[in-house]
Amino acid sequence: LLLGGGTGFVGRALSRLLQNKGHEVSHISRQPGAGRITWSRSEGSGVAVLITLLSLSGISLACFLSRWNEDFKKEVACSRIGTTTALAQAILGAEKPPRVWVLITGVGYYQPSRTAEYTEDSPGGDFDYLSRLVKQWEAAAKLPEERGAHTRQVVIRSGVVLGKDGGAIQQMIWPFWLGAGGPIGSGQQFFPWIHVDDLAGMIVHVLETEGVNGVLNGVAPSADTNAAFTQAFATALWRPAFLPLPGFVVNAVFGPERGTMLLEGQRVIPKRTLESGFVYSYPDLSSALKNIVG
Ligand code: NDP
Repeated sequence: LLLGGGTGFVGRALSRLLQNKGHEVSHISRQPGAGRITWSRSEGSGVAVLITLLSLSGISLACFLSRWNEDFKKEVACSRIGTTTALAQAILGAEKPPRVWVLITGVGYYQPSRTAEYTEDSPGGDFDYLSRLVKQWEAAAKLPEERGAHTRQVVIRSGVVLGKDGGAIQQMIWPFWLGAGGPIGSGQQFFPWIHVDDLAGMIVHVLETEGVNGVLNGVAPSADTNAAFTQAFATALWRPAFLPLPGFVVNAVFGPERGTMLLEGQRVIPKRTLESGFVYSYPDLSSALKNIVG
């Protein structure tokens, strides 16, 4: 199996799971090395004999130190849409195309709302920077209809990925550990999330289940708010979480586009995911955070 971005937080968990199941895993990376090929090589004929491509690449949107200026947005687009286009082209040019092509995008596709519920069939992709990015990203992955017979295509729209060794938890753990954690804004915005092992498990489920194709929502089935997450995280750490981060501070520090990511959220239902037979190991916050913090 060939993983674009397999060296990252999700890719590491996925690689471990695949290797434990006896699969041979290679990564497409910007850096050459053992078990890796570079992006320029992936554009060649090497892809012809591969079974599966999984695209997980992308410069992190979560890093609070980077400013969302035009240069950053260009890099965000290039690292996601550029790499995805390269893989889709490689599939189209392959004599023997892969059996499965999986892309991981995000629930930022759906418009933030406190009342709407979004399944995989809900509209989106057309209201702000993030949603348009996801729409273009998924469009870059789309293979022509006639390729469907050879290559099963799946897009997983992921929520915030929670795990021990990366992602959002790594950014939040110290403030919470020091007792300086709290809800963001009102805390009433939805916080769609998934445990990293469940996201990796979902990808493996997709690979192993022949009939699964199209979009799946990669979120836990429990719909939680930011306040509920804050409380559960603080409880798991045995720490208080009384210090709210006011919305105006978030907007002033991160800018309005980025502030939206923190201050607003979507209630996302994994309808097709559950219908496909996927069984979660961490369906609720308390089991997920107990595993992560423990
Ligand atoms: P990481 O931030 O860990 O990065 C994944 C990989 O992307 C890196 O290992 C790196 O691989 C590659 N990468 C980083 N910057 C660039 C760049 N400028 N150009 C090309 N490749 C780059 O990501 P995650 O594992 O956390 O997430 C995986 C995917 O899931 C991403 O596409 C992300 O957008 C999506 N996602 C993640 C969420 C989360 O909470 N983590 C939430 C929703 C979606 P290398 O150095 O080997 O080239």
